[in-house]
Amino acid sequence: MFDGVAAPAMLVKENGQMPGLSSKPQPLLTARRYPGIRPLKQKLRPVQREVTDLPKQHFDVERLIRQIRTAVKPFRKAALFELYDDGFTSTFEQLAACIISIRTLDEVTVPTARKLFAVARTPAAVARLSVAQIDARIRQCAFHAAKAKTIRNLAREAVAKFGGKLPCDSAALMQCPGVGPKCANLALGITCGLGGIGVDIHVHRVTNRWGYVETRSPEETMAALEAKLPRKYWVEINKLLVRFGKHICTGKQPRCSTCPVLSMCRQIGVTSHR
Ligand code: SF4
Repeated sequence: MFDGVAAPAMLVKENGQMPGLSSKPQPLLTARRYPGIRPLKQKLRPVQREVTDLPKQHFDVERLIRQIRTAVKPFRKAALFELYDDGFTSTFEQLAACIISIRTLDEVTVPTARKLFAVARTPAAVARLSVAQIDARIRQCAFHAAKAKTIRNLAREAVAKFGGKLPCDSAALMQCPGVGPKCANLALGITCGLGGIGVDIHVHRVTNRWGYVETRSPEETMAALEAKLPRKYWVEINKLLVRFGKHICTGKQPRCSTCPVLSMCRQIGVTSHR
């Protein structure tokens, strides 16, 4: 170890000893003894602390939501919110778009839903299409054949049971064939400001990593969040965490070192990160 000077690299063996020097303690090398050797600006590199070792602050969900709102601003909105902003504001449109979005990227969901809505936007109009015609419109999404059937059945049900207008009632929506709690909650949250929390894989993963919930499935997460998350965030949590989970708290190698909520997040289950 040299104190205050950088030794020429060629003089230093891998074990750090100088060639030709005994292992007896040697006088420290100085710039005076080795003219031309520059003093080091910094004697020792500071020890890099793992971000997972940093002390954690009290978990304040209000502050956390504010920080995440800012962090996700540069990223594209989640598919259903983008479609809503584009004017597809009925519960039926949101529900049909949610069915299209299952196991499908947002980048595919948005144009696929638009393609269907270009020919039929209401339950009555969709009910008049055949399954094959719907399938031809949504062919880009995953499981399009099964989804075409589900969307046609949903449209027929909406016409037969509700006169062509789906009600703001999650129990009623979930009685429709192919409609689960995630889509019912999302559609009702966005269009009626009602319903439970729409929990997809991003909301499930991120809230568990925070340590805010401790659950094994999106269904359990929905129940746990509804028991503790203030109601005013029930719709927004999905809107925020889909983007947050896609770009910051990613499935593999989350970006913890630059994450705005690192000081509060318990990083549960995170074994490696960026
Ligand atoms: S990126 Fe890391 S610090 Fe941020 S929420 Fe995810 S696990 Fe927590």
